[in-house]
Amino acid sequence: MPPSANSQQRPPLLTKSRFKRALECPTKLYYAEQPDYANQSLDDDFLAELAKGGHQVGALAKCYFPGGEDLTGLSPDEALIRTIELLQRDTVTIFEAAIRHEQLMIQVDILVKDGDHYELIEVKAKSWRQDDGNFMKRKGDGVVKKDEPYLCDIAFQQVVLERALKTGFIDCYLMLPNKQARAATDGLNSKFRVTADHQVIVSDNLGESDLAHGLLAKVDVNQSVEYIRKKMEFHGYFFDDYIAIAADALQKGERLRGQISSTCKTCEFHCTSEEGDHGQQSGFRECWKQELGWQDQDFEDPLVFEIAGFTKVDELVNANKVKLTDVEESDINPKGDGKPGLSRSERQWLQVMKVQQGDSTPEIDIDGLRKEIESWTYPMHFIDFETITAALPFTRGRRPYEGVAFQFSHHVLNADGSVEHADQFLDTTPGHFPSFDFIRALKGALEGDSGTIFRYADHENTFLNLIHRQLQDSDLPQAEVQELCGFIESISRSSKKSERQWCGPRDMVDMLELVKRYAYYPATRGSNSIKNVLPAVLNDSIFLQEKYGKPIYGAAGGIPSSNFSDWQWIRMVNGQVQDPYKLLPPMFIDIPENIDELLSDSDSLANGGAALTAYARIQFTEMSEYEREQLRGALLKYCELDTLAMVMIFEAWRDKLN
Ligand code: SF4
Repeated sequence: MPPSANSQQRPPLLTKSRFKRALECPTKLYYAEQPDYANQSLDDDFLAELAKGGHQVGALAKCYFPGGEDLTGLSPDEALIRTIELLQRDTVTIFEAAIRHEQLMIQVDILVKDGDHYELIEVKAKSWRQDDGNFMKRKGDGVVKKDEPYLCDIAFQQVVLERALKTGFIDCYLMLPNKQARAATDGLNSKFRVTADHQVIVSDNLGESDLAHGLLAKVDVNQSVEYIRKKMEFHGYFFDDYIAIAADALQKGERLRGQISSTCKTCEFHCTSEEGDHGQQSGFRECWKQELGWQDQDFEDPLVFEIAGFTKVDELVNANKVKLTDVEESDINPKGDGKPGLSRSERQWLQVMKVQQGDSTPEIDIDGLRKEIESWTYPMHFIDFETITAALPFTRGRRPYEGVAFQFSHHVLNADGSVEHADQFLDTTPGHFPSFDFIRALKGALEGDSGTIFRYADHENTFLNLIHRQLQDSDLPQAEVQELCGFIESISRSSKKSERQWCGPRDMVDMLELVKRYAYYPATRGSNSIKNVLPAVLNDSIFLQEKYGKPIYGAAGGIPSSNFSDWQWIRMVNGQVQDPYKLLPPMFIDIPENIDELLSDSDSLANGGAALTAYARIQFTEMSEYEREQLRGALLKYCELDTLAMVMIFEAWRDKLN
């Protein structure tokens, strides 16, 4: 029986996205519906999906079902009515089918009806390989934790469909980019262009050959969906029962009680002071006041969430130790690890002690740093890569989610203390696979001497390993492959999984590791992101304040720069150095400032932040040449600052040795 469309009355409906929130925390369901409560979620899903390639994957999936009826663009009411009409047919495939049962409402990516049998297909821009199977744990005693949200999403849809269509013959599938498949043609991703109003235009040139090789895998997830519905509990209820609880609370406007836990760390219902001034309320504060009996001043204190790399936060919270002042040495159990500098647990305890002693001064291990610095060779090179793992391949033979390196910046610091922005590379040509030109340019930038090379975190080494594999697998002349792979081996170390093992004579030095082992800045509140370390270092270093407090950057006779002129990096506000990243023009001028800030903070978007989003926009969206150039200019400035930040940190340390 097809469902009935009852759209006269419109109480809040429990949709997929609302239920997803309720799964994270029951109380979120309430706050999301209350306009008086601040909500910091990155609600521009368009940008987040663009960065992952979600729009292209959705459009590509439809191409595998020719003749499908596409309800995209219809209003929810129109889609409900049209779905009912289409489901009268004996066989039909519907894209964005709208299904409602009482207070539950879904839109199904792809619904295939064949007589009494239905296939429910959810398309996700999440990579899959054969080893992932159907997302059950190997012993069959649970689903893989990180994949639970995807499976709960499709389980929710199955419940709604079963009830609306009154049938149990519904098979569940996820359709996902298959990391083991290879593109059969060139330029696939540029055949799916995203317009300014967020539509995906599929090129007329898309042919059968583009769809060959099964770039998307249709994965049967019936077993894991059944496990979720029959065996798992969510906030104390079985899955189907929790749907009823959530739908009921939503309809009545009731606030379900959540539990204070590590989940609260990323709760979107907290309020900035500016929003508070404008009368917005903080759900976060409300929860914590209710559950912990806190007063406003309690929120000024650092919390256990801030302990860097600490994995037992929930144990502390359950023991009612929520503030750093509550933590005892035995909770951290600091121990050395036999290597120079601080071990992870020693650093964690240092962080706690600094708070407990009210000590905001940095802790720098001068002797440890001195030994490291004495082992390095001038001229020193500081490099940073910007990369993307695009869902759809750029060229024939490449795989979904194969990494692409599109930008680097390179600063040099000479023995006489002079600094220069020596090189940069940026290739944003739509449809062009840039990684081989990237590595050729990097080789040209670094092969002139044998100075020490610095990176910040593992990313650069990981990508050099990837490009090494891509070269081995390429159609480039063997001599060039050997030459470029030899260069990579000279400046990197092989990953553990690599068949061939190496550690090059100029293996890059990881500045992040140096920060972790030799320098702790309380102002970072436990974050080791370079975007937090840099302002802390600038505030601590008189040397940097004096040097970069003058407009010498990009000035004649000053520090040569590719993208700045007469630039003054140090600007004081209320006695503090202003964050240099905040001096740069916004990366995205056409989106709200808060979203731009979220994108510009590398910790905010799981897949990497502003640079890859900018690259994805240039690649996949329709924009004018002027807009393209603006974005390219912003990318170049941000990347230049990333390597200058490394230079500044090094200069501050070196100054301390004198
Ligand atoms: S603060 Fe915690 S309990 Fe309250 S809504 Fe957020 S996640 Fe839930």
